Amino acid sequence: MKRSLHYASLRSAPVGTTGHRPLLLAAAVAVGLLAHAPAGHAADGFDIVALGALGGIQDGNLSAWMVHPHDDDRAVTFDAGTLVNGLRVADEKGALDGVTVPADSGLGRVGHVLTDRIKGYLISHAHLDHMAGLVIASPDDSKKPIYALPSVNAALVDTYFNWQAWPNFSDRGKAPQLKKYAMQDLTPATPVPLQGTKMSVTAFPLSHGGIESAAFVVESDGDILVYFGDTGPDPVEKGTRMRDVWTAIADKAKQRKLKAILIESSYTSDRPDAQLFGHLTPKWIMASLHELDAMAGGNALKDLPVVITHIKYSLTREQPQARMEQELSAANDLGVRFVIPQQGSRWHFK
Ligand SMILES: [Zn+2]
Ligand SMILES: [Zn+2]
Repeated sequence: MKRSLHYASLRSAPVGTTGHRPLLLAAAVAVGLLAHAPAGHAADGFDIVALGALGGIQDGNLSAWMVHPHDDDRAVTFDAGTLVNGLRVADEKGALDGVTVPADSGLGRVGHVLTDRIKGYLISHAHLDHMAGLVIASPDDSKKPIYALPSVNAALVDTYFNWQAWPNFSDRGKAPQLKKYAMQDLTPATPVPLQGTKMSVTAFPLSHGGIESAAFVVESDGDILVYFGDTGPDPVEKGTRMRDVWTAIADKAKQRKLKAILIESSYTSDRPDAQLFGHLTPKWIMASLHELDAMAGGNALKDLPVVITHIKYSLTREQPQARMEQELSAANDLGVRFVIPQQGSRWHFK
C-alpha cells in the first residue's frame, strides 16, 4: 500500500483530528495549544483549516483555507469562497475546539473566529468560487484588509463592491465607500507583513486561462507555506509562472522550511490540455513538483504535505476524489504526502 496519500475525506476521523494517521501529519492537532507564542519562540509550522475544500459547484464548500502559525492563532485565509459555512462545519468537527470566546463577547465561536481571529483575506483572483463567502459575510464581518494583486482588487471593487451587485464595503470605487475592507495591493515577489498576525505574504502572479491569478507564500519564523490559486500548467499557459514560484522557494524547500503546498487539481488526468481552462490535473501537478524538486537539489520533497485543493464536485454518481487519489499515488515518485482534504478538517504542518 502506498503510504504517500492521506485521504481524510473518506475516513471517519476522530473529532478534531485529521484522520487515522495522526503521527503522519503530526496532526496531533493540539487545538488546545493555540495560544499566542512568547517572543522568540522557535518555528513550529502552520495550522490549516479547510473552510472550503472544493472548486465548485457545491455552494457552501468553495475554496477557502484558514492559516496561522501553529503557535499563534491570529489567522488569514487563502481565498474566501466559503466563510461562515466553512467555520460552522469546522466548529461541528471540533477543529475550533481550541478557540475560547472571551466572556465579554456576545458572539458565538463562529462569529468570534470570523471577526476576531481572521485578520485578513488573501484573494488569488476574483472568480466567485474564491470570494463569494467574503461578500456574503461582509455585513457582519469586522474591519480588515483584503490582500490581492492590483488587477484582482480592481475586479473585486468593480464587479462586486459597486452598490449594484453588493454594497461597497471596500475603501475604493463607488461612493459611499463603507471602508470595512482596506484593499491592499500586493507587488509581485515583494513580501509584506500581514497586519495583526506574525506572518508575512509574498504574492506571485499565475496564469489562469487568460485571467491573472496568484500564488501566496506565507512566512512565519522562517517557515513557509505556499498556496496556489487557480492556475494552468506552464506548458499549456505558455509561460513560467508556476516555475517562478518554485524558483523563489527552492532554497526553503531544500532547507526543509517549506511546510506544505496547497495546489489545485480541478480535473483528473484524462482531461485534454485544450479543455483545462487554466486548471491543473494530477499529471500536471507531478510534472510541476518535479521541477521544484530538481531546483531544490533532488529528493527534497519527501514527506512534504501537498494538499489538493479545488477538486470539482461532480453531479455524477461518483466523486472524483478516489480517482485523484489513485492517479496521484501511482505517479508519486517524489514521496510527497498528498492530502485529499475534507471541509472542516484541521492540520498542523510542521
Ligand atoms: Zn476556482
Ligand atoms: Zn478561477
